[in-house]
Amino acid sequence: SSLTIHANSHDYEVIIEEGIRHELLNYISSDYQKILIITDDKVSNIYLDDVISGLGNEFDPHITIVPAGESSKSMKQYERLLDACVEAQLDRRSLILALGGGMVGDLAGFVASTYLRGIDFIQMPTTILAHDSSVGGKVAINHQKGKNLIGSFYNPVKVIYDTGTLLTLPAEEIRSGYGEVIKHAFLSSPEWCNDLFQVSVGNLSSEQIKDDLMKGIKVKAGIVESDEREKGIRRYLNLGHTLAHAIEAELGYGKITHGEAVGIGLWFALRVSQRKLESSLPVDRYAEWLKSNHYPVEILKNLDVDTLLKRMKWDKKTVHQKINYVLLNQIGAPCVVGLSDQEIQTDLNLFIKEVS
Ligand code: NAD
Ligand code: ZN
Repeated sequence: SSLTIHANSHDYEVIIEEGIRHELLNYISSDYQKILIITDDKVSNIYLDDVISGLGNEFDPHITIVPAGESSKSMKQYERLLDACVEAQLDRRSLILALGGGMVGDLAGFVASTYLRGIDFIQMPTTILAHDSSVGGKVAINHQKGKNLIGSFYNPVKVIYDTGTLLTLPAEEIRSGYGEVIKHAFLSSPEWCNDLFQVSVGNLSSEQIKDDLMKGIKVKAGIVESDEREKGIRRYLNLGHTLAHAIEAELGYGKITHGEAVGIGLWFALRVSQRKLESSLPVDRYAEWLKSNHYPVEILKNLDVDTLLKRMKWDKKTVHQKINYVLLNQIGAPCVVGLSDQEIQTDLNLFIKEVS
């Protein structure tokens, strides 16, 4: 199936099919005279050969492989990739193909956005989480002082999502992807939430994944299309993220996957919505789902409320005194509410007690 996304710069197509890596040639314009494939060393081991043969004899692709993991979203790898672009003599009729998860997409996209003031790039996501990162046009690398501090808004010319690549994902990466999937469900549809409560993320059918990716991308695209540069409603996508970022920073990046932290942060956001807005939400049902799918909720026990609060205030959404928190009036009806330190402390204490 496919879907067109309307960005300010141009429209682009997202294609989601099982096995399309084998017939890439059909999806890439033959006008491109050179292709640079950027991927990581885990993904390249499993899928690079397929992708190269999928391109047929039409292109003679250049390839640059970076080490897997968040630490490759760095100045060092960025510079190395620019060198590769120069060496391959990429010009405005060239294409960068980002093959991998959100890390590769963000890094390769940032290279594409700056080399020659921007050349075309295609996202080939290989993680479930990348349904989130491959649309919306944010690309970035990290600075020592913080994630995604150096970046730009730059949309791909196409997203080619081969769901056949998702079968090799480790369990925690599947959970991570579904953390963002269920966030998109809570932002949009009670029926979809109910449907997800029935599934075990350890035992997903290909059809289910395809369906969830398409739904998630539709929700994200819908929000981003009306607010590409994060002035208003794009903030709704941060549902669950204020606590998630604090947890990730506190544990150290790599100790928990992003989407697992979002899953836990979402639980908290739902509890706060109940308290502050008296929203009627299936919080207990959701908590059960998290636990039965082995989201690492027990990590909260060891975290300190004051430290978490401090981290949350550092988060970029903080304005003046209060923390602007994304909450839900009901499923599909998000809002942004200012919460005092006192409120957050009380809620966090209750929450950690509940989780322990
Ligand atoms: P990732 O790209 O690091 O992939 C996670 C791990 O899975 C890596 O070890 C990778 O090598 C491995 N992997 C990837 N595909 C695989 C496959 N098919 N089979 C087996 N292993 C595979 O991480 P991610 O979770 O996909 O993305 C996280 C990144 O995305 C972060 O850098 C985050 O900042 C970024 N992100 C960006 C946006 C955005 O809007 N641009 C949104 C959300 C997240
Ligand atoms: Zn996220």
